[in-house]
Amino acid sequence: MSKKKIAILGSGIAGLSYGYYLKKYQPDVEFTILESSSRSGGVVFSEMKEGCVFEWGPRGVRPKGNGQVVLEMVEDLGLWDELVFANDQAKKRYLYHDGKLQVLPHSLKSFVASPYLGLFLKAFYKDLSAQKVATDETIAAFVDRHFGEKFRVLFFDSLVSGVWAGDVTKMSVSAAFPILKKLELKRGSLLKSLVGHKSDVSDSKQYPKEITSKALFSFKGGVQTLTDTLRDVLADFIEYDVKIQKIDFSDKVEIALEGSSICVDELTSTIPAYELSAFVIPDLAMVLDSIFYAPVAVLNLILPKSELSFDGFGFLVPSKEKSVVLGMVANSNTFPSHAAPNKSVHTVMMGGARYSLEELNAMDLKKDAISFLNGVFGKPLFIEGQELILMSKAIPQYELGHVDKVRQIEVLSPSNLKVLGNYMYGVSLIDIITKSRDLAK
Ligand SMILES: Cc1cc2nc3c(=O)[nH]c(=O)nc-3n(C[C@H](O)[C@H](O)[C@H](O)COP(=O)(O)OP(=O)(O)OC[C@H]3O[C@@H](n4cnc5c(N)ncnc54)[C@H](O)[C@@H]3O)c2cc1C
Repeated sequence: MSKKKIAILGSGIAGLSYGYYLKKYQPDVEFTILESSSRSGGVVFSEMKEGCVFEWGPRGVRPKGNGQVVLEMVEDLGLWDELVFANDQAKKRYLYHDGKLQVLPHSLKSFVASPYLGLFLKAFYKDLSAQKVATDETIAAFVDRHFGEKFRVLFFDSLVSGVWAGDVTKMSVSAAFPILKKLELKRGSLLKSLVGHKSDVSDSKQYPKEITSKALFSFKGGVQTLTDTLRDVLADFIEYDVKIQKIDFSDKVEIALEGSSICVDELTSTIPAYELSAFVIPDLAMVLDSIFYAPVAVLNLILPKSELSFDGFGFLVPSKEKSVVLGMVANSNTFPSHAAPNKSVHTVMMGGARYSLEELNAMDLKKDAISFLNGVFGKPLFIEGQELILMSKAIPQYELGHVDKVRQIEVLSPSNLKVLGNYMYGVSLIDIITKSRDLAK
């Protein structure tokens, strides 16, 4: 019997991890990864600058829960000694609110001492009488029903900006936070439903608490160490600079390239929705094109270590502050080895779903970010190095109706097309790697 042949489109973390697990679990399958650019990793992009690590994409993975699937992959790849775990400082996070940095509760003691204690208690009390709503709703509508508008405007708004660069008034709670909707359907109140609740954890090796209790992990050379290692392990399977002209799904999958073609039994796409849409039937293309990707600007900064006396992981900025800055991550507080001696590295995120690319292009983002930081820290900061990248389509937004879109993509896809990637089953590295593993298995 001839071996099954699969082509994988894209060598971001989704394509690389799917290839890695196919090699591990399906040795009888032949596969090729087709990448349009000259590098793998996609959004995962770490660079060394003046002895400091600049992260342009993801900067860490939570070791808890399904983070252990990623840890297991790291161990299998022989990368354990390259790991760096977050300082305990990284548990301390701030909100920039009412003209100052306010620490968010991160322990019982800090909760009791928090200026937000009253707001939290009121929010919890409101939740106790929340009713079940079976239909999907925006994150804003859901949080307002459970915890009140003031709680949403401060905490959920900035959380969603920080993770998705998203807009709570547009995003779907069922798609972005399925666990919240699941809990609500148990007992109405989220707090009541949490009693006795056990989270669904994917099957993986279990790591000791001293590892899983850390806030995040990365690598000495940044997150790209993971994708570079996958790239090397899969070196014989990846083709770069591939320009796909057309794909025919009618019997076998025929992929027309410039001057050649490939014929396989099955195609797995991990490329962005707006890229896949060019190769599929109009009904499916329409759903794919309706997925909006938010633009995000990332500014990496190097400062003398003594310039900024700031502890913690970073701070978030609620949208009511009307700043283009979504937040700042103090990378070298979290991973001290990511900065050269006597230096500190910070990343400012800007833009997101509330801004169009044209608006961001028209701004002086470096200047705006630095004057915002000067205001936050109350002095003109001495910046030693700075670089900015504006990503036009950085993060797919799971807007209201997204769960239906995912279902439609599954239904409208021909039987020889599987669709993975960050617009389908979660944007985080953990969600993407776990889904790739499960599909390969
Ligand atoms: C600024 C930022 C910060 C983030 N921070 C975190 C974080 O801290 N933690 C976390 O877990 N997640 C984070 N994320 C999310 C996470 O990094 C992404 O969701 C994930 O890396 C996307 O992986 P992917 O493989 O789905 O897509 P991509 O990385 O976009 O990869 C797609 C690949 O397909 C290729 N391609 C495109 N078109 C074609 C084509 N026509 N033919 C062939 N190949 C093609 C591309 O070149 C690319 O290599 C962040 C995202 C951003 C933008």
